[in-house]
Amino acid sequence: MFGAVVVGVGTAGSVRIRDLVAPLAGSAAEKLTIKGFISRRSLGDQQGVSQISREEAVSREDVQAAFVCTENVSHEENIRTFLQAGKHVCVEYPMTLNHQAAVDLWDLAQEKGLVLHEEHIELLTEDYKLLKKETEGKILKEGTLHFTGGALKPGFGALVFSGIARLTWLVDLFGELSVTAATMEEDAGKNYSKMTANMLTSDNRPLTWIEERGPGLPRAKNINFHFDSCTLTQIPPAPRGAVGIFMQDMIHFSAKLAGQVSPEELQREKTRILHCFHVAERIQKLCQS
Ligand code: NAD
Repeated sequence: MFGAVVVGVGTAGSVRIRDLVAPLAGSAAEKLTIKGFISRRSLGDQQGVSQISREEAVSREDVQAAFVCTENVSHEENIRTFLQAGKHVCVEYPMTLNHQAAVDLWDLAQEKGLVLHEEHIELLTEDYKLLKKETEGKILKEGTLHFTGGALKPGFGALVFSGIARLTWLVDLFGELSVTAATMEEDAGKNYSKMTANMLTSDNRPLTWIEERGPGLPRAKNINFHFDSCTLTQIPPAPRGAVGIFMQDMIHFSAKLAGQVSPEELQREKTRILHCFHVAERIQKLCQS
């Protein structure tokens, strides 16, 4: 069994507590047992789980893993603290707000022989799985992914990092990408921002990623993918899966703890994640120039 704590009790942290309290029967997630949660606020018990201090969590021998669910700006420091204390870490995306910090944390995890897992629930939704199936075997000519959503909360970092899930989709669908141009439009008074990144696939096919946020904008992903044989203008709607996406992610993390994930798969995941950080950082630099 692996004792676990949840750090940060917002939307994601509450779901993590829920899933740890009632893991999917018969799954690897049953190997995790919750020992407490950590919050900067003084909260009463949450879902029957008690609050403990970070110092206690770090020093307790019956705590072997931490779920980092705080706002993005505090991920890096929390990951480092738990890794240095010899605890495995599952962190909600994005793991950091720059490429070098992600590389350093991965090195630290490797040096300590610990699992560092970045959650990517966007790859686990039924809609995405169907979209991936529909794009398989097709040759992309050009494409656009346009995300809209409400204004970003403080502490969630630049659009390109808070929206890394969209970039992850593009890399998972079409392979490694290079950036040719990126621009940012901002209206601070209206809390509005729009990032447009122009990228190329390894076959030199153009891909545009737009991340647009502002008060009242609906949370939506619009796609326009032109293939050799057809055009996809809608994410195919799929019925909800039987197992929740955070639970699927937790099962994957537990399987890593149990040594059930092959080194090749671990390396593939790390390569994809670090590539996305590399691309995001390049976009960020172009937006700032
Ligand atoms: P959130 O705003 O609900 O919580 C973020 C942090 O704010 C947490 O540490 C929480 O403890 C703290 N917080 C929440 N309410 C507070 C309050 N009233 N006073 C003081 N602090 C408070 O954000 P979230 O959606 O849980 O996101 C956390 C992380 O999970 C982020 O890294 C995000 O990118 C990631 N994530 C979230 C989702 C999701 O569906 N919500 C999905 C994937 C990844």
